[in-house]
Amino acid sequence: MYEVLVTGGAGFIGSHFVRRLLRRDDVAQVTVLDALTYAGHPENLGEAFLDPRLVFVHGSILDGPLVEQLMARHTAVVHFAAESHVDRSLTTADTFLTTNVLGTQILAASAGRHGITKFVHISTDEVYGSLAEGAASEGDPVRPGVPYAASKAASDLVALSHYQTYGLPVCVTRSSNNYGPHQFPEKVIPLFTTRLLQSEKVTLHGQGQHVRNWLHVEDNCAGIELVLDDGEPGEIYNLGGGTDLTVRDLAAKLLLLCGKDGESVACVPDRQANDLRYSMLWDKIAALGFRPTHDFDEGLAETVDWYRRNPDRWAPLTRTPYAACATAAIAPAGEEAHAR
Ligand code: NAD
Repeated sequence: MYEVLVTGGAGFIGSHFVRRLLRRDDVAQVTVLDALTYAGHPENLGEAFLDPRLVFVHGSILDGPLVEQLMARHTAVVHFAAESHVDRSLTTADTFLTTNVLGTQILAASAGRHGITKFVHISTDEVYGSLAEGAASEGDPVRPGVPYAASKAASDLVALSHYQTYGLPVCVTRSSNNYGPHQFPEKVIPLFTTRLLQSEKVTLHGQGQHVRNWLHVEDNCAGIELVLDDGEPGEIYNLGGGTDLTVRDLAAKLLLLCGKDGESVACVPDRQANDLRYSMLWDKIAALGFRPTHDFDEGLAETVDWYRRNPDRWAPLTRTPYAACATAAIAPAGEEAHAR
């Protein structure tokens, strides 16, 4: 039986993963440890709260004594908690390094003291940096191009050092861009969708030529679950296999789904740091049985539909000071985030 500590479980991916865990009979307890930053919302867990196996702890992974107390009651850790928005990292990198790197160190050290049997550290394709051509495999060096990616790459190395030094059974997953319901509306798909649903314009940096690989959040969670169950300690697993699209092509699909035309899109100068293309090989996770199952066009239509049906969930977020920060802090007036 698993007793799983899920950090960042009130965020986008973590909350989907918690629901998935609670569908299993061999999970006795799921504890969510979440600081409820601007990105964390208990509503993301919704009906999961009806399950008596779910315990929610409002606290930070940086709180060593709290982490120590919680770790003692669990057998596995899935570590999602992070500052996750590239554009914010361009102006507040210190917070990213503290949460993502020091937070991982505090968790991993505590996990080692409490005999945790699997520590899954959640990371990103961005650690490989921008690739003009080809695709990164797990053995390739990290070449992060932006502060967010640097903080994630550093946190991967910290987590893996606990395997090398202390034998903590650490696995790292690196997924491409996720999409799906209840993502915070600073990331490109919910940002564009919520703007278009409010008949506002969206902007593309440069000509919208930046390429991202889009993986449905449920596919990513299925891969993470495989790694939790069958991942080899000390190994990194790329979670790719989504759909490659330029931001321009993504915007065109969203325009159609939201009933808008090209009048709703404007181009602005590219920002100073904007990786052109990420790409990964994912044969290692495929060998564990991973296959993405969500068709992108269907998944995107369902995602847009979720935002259309749930304005009460996102409209307040687009009006708060931190939502304003998501656009104002990252780009000159009138511009907005568009990569992740
Ligand atoms: P998110 O921003 O939606 O959620 C992050 C969660 O972490 C929030 O609930 C927040 O409150 C919590 N958190 C932040 N600081 C904390 C702290 N000090 N203590 C406890 N909780 C804290 O992020 P997401 O998109 O769900 O991403 C989850 C993880 O997956 C991150 O590690 C991210 O780097 C990684 N990832 C995300 C994507 C993507 O496309 N969203 C892709 C690849 C990897």
